[in-house]
Amino acid sequence: MSAVVSLTNVEKSFGAVKVLNGVSFEVARGEVAAVIGQSGSGKSTALRCINALETIEGGQIMVCGHAVHDPKLDKKTLRRDVGIVFQSYNLFPHLTAEQNIMLAPTCVKGIGKAAARDLAREVLARVGLEAKADHFPEQLSGGQQQRVAIARSLAMQPKLMLFDEVTSALDPQLTGEVLKVMEDLARGGMTMILVTHEMAFARKVASKVIYMHQGTVWETGPGAMLDDPKTPELRAFVGSGL
Ligand code: ADP
Ligand code: MG
Repeated sequence: MSAVVSLTNVEKSFGAVKVLNGVSFEVARGEVAAVIGQSGSGKSTALRCINALETIEGGQIMVCGHAVHDPKLDKKTLRRDVGIVFQSYNLFPHLTAEQNIMLAPTCVKGIGKAAARDLAREVLARVGLEAKADHFPEQLSGGQQQRVAIARSLAMQPKLMLFDEVTSALDPQLTGEVLKVMEDLARGGMTMILVTHEMAFARKVASKVIYMHQGTVWETGPGAMLDDPKTPELRAFVGSGL
């Protein structure tokens, strides 16, 4: 099997509240999966479980050959294979774009400074920001900061990228430039799972759409399923324009 990610009957509670109630889905190598659903349906929690930011109570999660559900999981090696980008970019304000990107390759992977700088320039070019290498975060727009955050993840050469509503804090005109970077990544063959409210983007770029409702995968299929929902819940969700 070429599945990079597989979730099987994943269960997760916060206190007495069951947030993931038997979630199962697979993402193959090179596939782009868009996770959609109402606020509170468990999308972020599912993403965080994939990267072992949450521990699960039931089921199995395999990611790039790592058994994430195993209590003996080595989180460090898992996270070398998985990049994650959130709505908030969390760049260090006192470091330039390039220095922000060089940090993990030098500190985590032990790559030398010169090589890390070359790597930073390369990933900045991939997100169209080579000219901004020496800028500090406050000198960049929100969209540019988010692109630096994506570049920072790419510098670790992940096998899988997770994106959790990375454009939600951005103005519409800045959203487009970040989506373009993600589309380029998808076209380059990166395996990606993205939680998004951008339905047009999901329809266009995703090879698989996963609609979550009340902590389960309610409906899943290709992007075209958004044009012909099988369940009243997805029909209502799509119709709500969210
Ligand atoms: P989504 O990303 O789809 O909006 P989340 O996965 O963030 O949904 O949250 C699903 C549910 O889990 C919500 O009811 C939320 O309040 C709850 N939840 C998420 N994280 C925590 C937490 N750390 N502690 C308690 N409840 C949480
Ligand atoms: Mg969320």
